[in-house]
Amino acid sequence: MDKKPANAWLHSYADLPDAFWQPAAPTPVAAPRLLAWNAALANQLGLDPALEAVAERLFSGNELPEGARPIALAYAGHQFGHFVPQLGDGRAILLGEVLAPDGRRFDIQLKGAGPTPFSRRGDGRAAIGPVLREYLVSEAMAALGVPTTRALAAVATGEHVLRDHVLPGAVLTRVAASHVRVGTFQFFAARGDDQAVRTLADHVIARHYPELADADDRYLALLRAVAGRQAALVAAWLQVGFIHGVMNTDNMAVSGETIDYGPCAFLDAYDPAKVFSSIDRHGRYAYANQPPIAQWNLARLAECLLPHFRRQGDEGVADAREAIEAFAGQFGDAWLAGFRRKLGLATEESADEALVRDFLSALEAVQADFTLSFRALAVAAGAPGFDELPPLPKTPAMDAWLERWRARCGNEAGGRDELVQRLKAANPAVIPRNHRVEAALSAAAAGDLAPFTALLDAVRRPCDDAPAQRGYMAAPAAGEQVLQTFCGT
Ligand code: AMP
Ligand code: MG
Ligand code: MG
Repeated sequence: MDKKPANAWLHSYADLPDAFWQPAAPTPVAAPRLLAWNAALANQLGLDPALEAVAERLFSGNELPEGARPIALAYAGHQFGHFVPQLGDGRAILLGEVLAPDGRRFDIQLKGAGPTPFSRRGDGRAAIGPVLREYLVSEAMAALGVPTTRALAAVATGEHVLRDHVLPGAVLTRVAASHVRVGTFQFFAARGDDQAVRTLADHVIARHYPELADADDRYLALLRAVAGRQAALVAAWLQVGFIHGVMNTDNMAVSGETIDYGPCAFLDAYDPAKVFSSIDRHGRYAYANQPPIAQWNLARLAECLLPHFRRQGDEGVADAREAIEAFAGQFGDAWLAGFRRKLGLATEESADEALVRDFLSALEAVQADFTLSFRALAVAAGAPGFDELPPLPKTPAMDAWLERWRARCGNEAGGRDELVQRLKAANPAVIPRNHRVEAALSAAAAGDLAPFTALLDAVRRPCDDAPAQRGYMAAPAAGEQVLQTFCGT
């Protein structure tokens, strides 16, 4: 039996000093059973296809792949604005890194594989619902073109976990560009370990920002570059209606990938103040609050990196401030570029921002569905409509807006067909609707994986509105709406 991936395992993180991690072997589970295997991702990583046959043993933690060095990573973080000097991987175990055939390096991590030295009072385990939620939503985000960690496998443990109820347990195998978070920097900065901050920054530059290796003020350059990637990321979230739900600094990856799918959700009706998470009582992580929160988190990263800037004192603070303030412009540019695409525009005009904002206002006024309204622009441009795709709201504001938009589209090169194509490519028909996700996860917890598998298949083709997809497009009916999501670990 070959249980080793074709790749050799690498350990650039485990090779960092001891303070960066703790050894943490997975705890075997009673009866591992493969729930989902991501063959396309395995192929992209260059993993041996024979791995699937042994996946339930390797990706439950019951056996270690040859060459793995299991560790739990140390990190701190601001949780809802309050600093916690030690969090760390309480239920995640990094097996190591693999080099994909395209030269990119990825972490392979088990989530829910048993306690680690960072578990505090937690059990180190995960329930099947949250595991499959992360699997489904991260794969949907990847298909939507949003930078994200990926899911390689989900394995049921055959054991139960105790939450509000007794639930079946599972282990998720997460694939990420890395697991370094803003909170990783904070862990060392809070301890006054400047050398470790510098070691970590050099690791991150080598791994994610190699173009900065020779920059003359490279820790400031790193701050700017991380800000740029966060700006692009949060803009991409807003363009698909995604609400992360827990943008704590320990849940912000410096690679620029979406990480940690907890009480995340997608907008149905467009409402910038929308909050789903039951623990977000003050709306800190509301849809439209995500850009300023990303900027707040970047200010925390700046505090860690500041002692390493070339200029110190007031000048260093001014450099940090400038980098953090630049986020607003970086975000604004990414936001406008993305929403221009969603309006079908390939060129830039100065009135475009108002055109985007006025469309959003017209949706907000009548609580129109965010995803389907953008998709309906293709029909407004001349694509054939169908029952599952409701028309745009018929309001005077929308009528006036459509007139302006049609005139604006007239300034674009190419004809109607190109416009329709651009609109369909930029506006997904199928997103992981909260009510569909909840229904699929409940069924899976009760032993029926079919709804999960079918939904996963649909969200992997977000821009396809073929008849088979249409059942997944609809917004929730009144009684179907998900009002709250839960951390549900
Ligand atoms: P999160 O809210 O998912 O970002 O997790 C915050 C912290 O709680 C991290 O340090 C996690 O490792 C830890 N944690 C969450 N769930 C568990 C669990 N079941 N057992 C141990 N640690 C956990
Ligand atoms: Mg987390
Ligand atoms: Mg979490």
